[in-house]
Amino acid sequence: MQLLFCDDPGVVSVIVLLKTFLNLIRFSLPIILIIKVSLDLYKNMINGVDDKGEIKKKTFERITACIIVFLVPSIINLVLTIFSSIDIDTSDYTDNFSVCYKEASRDLVKKLKEQQELKLNAEEEKKRENNLVIAAKYEALRKAQNEAKNNNNNNTSYHDTKTNLTKLGGVYLENGTFYIPNGASGKNCPSNPLNEGYNNKFGYHNEFWIRLQNLKDAAIKAGYNIDFSTQGCRSYDNQVYLYKKYASTPGRAAKPGTSRHGFGIASDVDFYKNSTTKCGANRTYSNCPGMKWIHENANRFGLVFPLLNAGYKEDWHIEPISIKKY
Ligand SMILES: [Zn+2]
Repeated sequence: MQLLFCDDPGVVSVIVLLKTFLNLIRFSLPIILIIKVSLDLYKNMINGVDDKGEIKKKTFERITACIIVFLVPSIINLVLTIFSSIDIDTSDYTDNFSVCYKEASRDLVKKLKEQQELKLNAEEEKKRENNLVIAAKYEALRKAQNEAKNNNNNNTSYHDTKTNLTKLGGVYLENGTFYIPNGASGKNCPSNPLNEGYNNKFGYHNEFWIRLQNLKDAAIKAGYNIDFSTQGCRSYDNQVYLYKKYASTPGRAAKPGTSRHGFGIASDVDFYKNSTTKCGANRTYSNCPGMKWIHENANRFGLVFPLLNAGYKEDWHIEPISIKKY
């Protein structure tokens, strides 16, 4: 059991404070003691000796208090050593209180803070590099798929090169169809967003994400600056929240556990901010040509807007063209 972490700037700061406080007491206490004892002696000289025993007792108490204050660091150390020895095998005796107390200084706090900052910066940098590697990997995969499409001279613009089952009970792709588990609990988003199969920028299912990006590229080429929701895989809890929020509008949000957003294979197109026409809520094909283009071209990229004619019309909700349960 390690009780002290002398490499933690917070702990060291507290020890520095304690040290300053104790030094102050240790410095001033003997002076106070001498003054007090002298005053007592003087008083007795003036008033005559009343009770020698009482004076002795008082003086003894004061000297004892002084000695105890001097011994505080040693006492703390002793107590901590006793506690530490509960688990002798793992206790680090070089990190005991007396060593820490001796070493503690404002300079050490500063040094430790600098070290901590360097470590954090290094971690951030590593994370950033990691993300770049992931992004490059999927960009390469997407390009390879596009190349395969061009070589095949096929008139559809999507080609799936993989038929992998990303995880047991998960979503997988075979011959252009996405298979989702039947009777799923709905808690399908990978708990770690960097899980294999979902490690693209926002945590969509990778194969779906590739199709979205291909559609987006083509839309931009055609002059429509579209974008998709950054919410890649919607958590079960979020679906519960949306289901309750839209309870009065049937069809507006799927029953928790059944939404394709919860599998990372559905997205919502942002028609407000990113479309060149800045289509509003009352958009039509004539005042929002970007939407018209996307609705007409999604199929070429293996995508579909399944809720265009639903009870609650969602012209923004996009999914893979073929989804089956297994
Ligand atoms: Zn949606």
